[in-house]
Amino acid sequence: MEHEEILHRCFRCGYCKLPGNYVDINCPAYLAFGFETYAPAGRMWLLRAWLDQKIEAGQRFAEIMFSCTACGNCVEQCAFPEFRDRLLLAFTAGKEALLEAGIVPPEVRDYLTRIQTHGNAYGKPVKKSAEWALGLDIDPFSDQEYAFFVDDAGAFNPRGQEIARSVALLLKKAGISLGVLQDPLVTDGNDVKAMGETALFEDLAEKNIQVFQARNIRKIITLSPHSFNTLKNDYPAVGGQYQVFHYTQALAFAMKRLAFSAYLPEAVVAFHDPCYLGLHNADYGSARMVLQAVPGIRLTEMDRNRKNALCCGGGGGNFFTDILSGGEDTPARARIREAAAAGAQILAVACPLCAIMLEDAVKAENLDNTLRVQELSEIVTERIDFQAP
Ligand code: SF4
Ligand code: SF4
Repeated sequence: MEHEEILHRCFRCGYCKLPGNYVDINCPAYLAFGFETYAPAGRMWLLRAWLDQKIEAGQRFAEIMFSCTACGNCVEQCAFPEFRDRLLLAFTAGKEALLEAGIVPPEVRDYLTRIQTHGNAYGKPVKKSAEWALGLDIDPFSDQEYAFFVDDAGAFNPRGQEIARSVALLLKKAGISLGVLQDPLVTDGNDVKAMGETALFEDLAEKNIQVFQARNIRKIITLSPHSFNTLKNDYPAVGGQYQVFHYTQALAFAMKRLAFSAYLPEAVVAFHDPCYLGLHNADYGSARMVLQAVPGIRLTEMDRNRKNALCCGGGGGNFFTDILSGGEDTPARARIREAAAAGAQILAVACPLCAIMLEDAVKAENLDNTLRVQELSEIVTERIDFQAP
């Protein structure tokens, strides 16, 4: 297994499961289950024991390994600089080894089979991947500056489609030249890669790259931070080199072109940093720049913010496999309680997966009368003066 030489080097101090300010548990898998085997150190211990043939891997073992949301908190917080950058790579290699051994939770097997068969997690025909934009006043991609990539959540999930439409219209309103890709696109592959299915990831990336090349695309704006991460950081190794922006990054510099309504209800807003914009790509500023440019928005911060932010629990494919679901201590529910404790009236999100996870969680916490989970483009759009030129 790749990176197996680091597994024995962890001295199990436990810093990796906390945020930098130590206020609470910050490894989503450990938070949800409370057993050391779900924390980074326990994972390494288990993997070492399996590779040394001291234990056998079964379904429980596989469930522990695939419960990792690939959030990157352990990489950020590990006390051991010699190997911290390789922690997630080792966990991904562990999943890859389990896939090769055929020891996989059924939810993971089903997810990967859907992707393999249909090219997306929803089991929909790829030729329908632009239907989310039907009737929308946005042109198909031709010679605009940017192509808009919405991934399968934006293309096929009903809430994701709403968010994709909201973001596309807002970017257009802000004067950004973008077009909707009409071609049969497959999912970006970010979470497939995090699950250790490297060959499938490369196959997905190659398919999308063929589309991008056929359209002579150079600049891409993504709806999802997951797509932003993999198109920017992983596609170059598969032959796809683009200028890639998450939509908050494009929007941050175009906010001055928007006029806002005179009627502006004040709102206290906390921003939930998505892992693939924050921890994986160190952008903690763009979304906050957008929110700060909206009159009437007062930004507050949760105890865990920026590089200490808690993942919503949807990364590493867990949005689809739901291995972390069930209890009160799911990361999404913990995040909602944290936003309420910070006095937020709105919890702003900038990822369709975070939006869906946290919108469910606010209802589960019975806080939906006092706290609204709202997607960032929708917050901006409802305050725009559409009469203004
Ligand atoms: S912080 Fe690093 S060394 Fe300490 S338990 Fe976590 S992985 Fe091991
Ligand atoms: S990446 Fe996140 S979920 Fe996975 S072990 Fe590290 S802190 Fe836990």
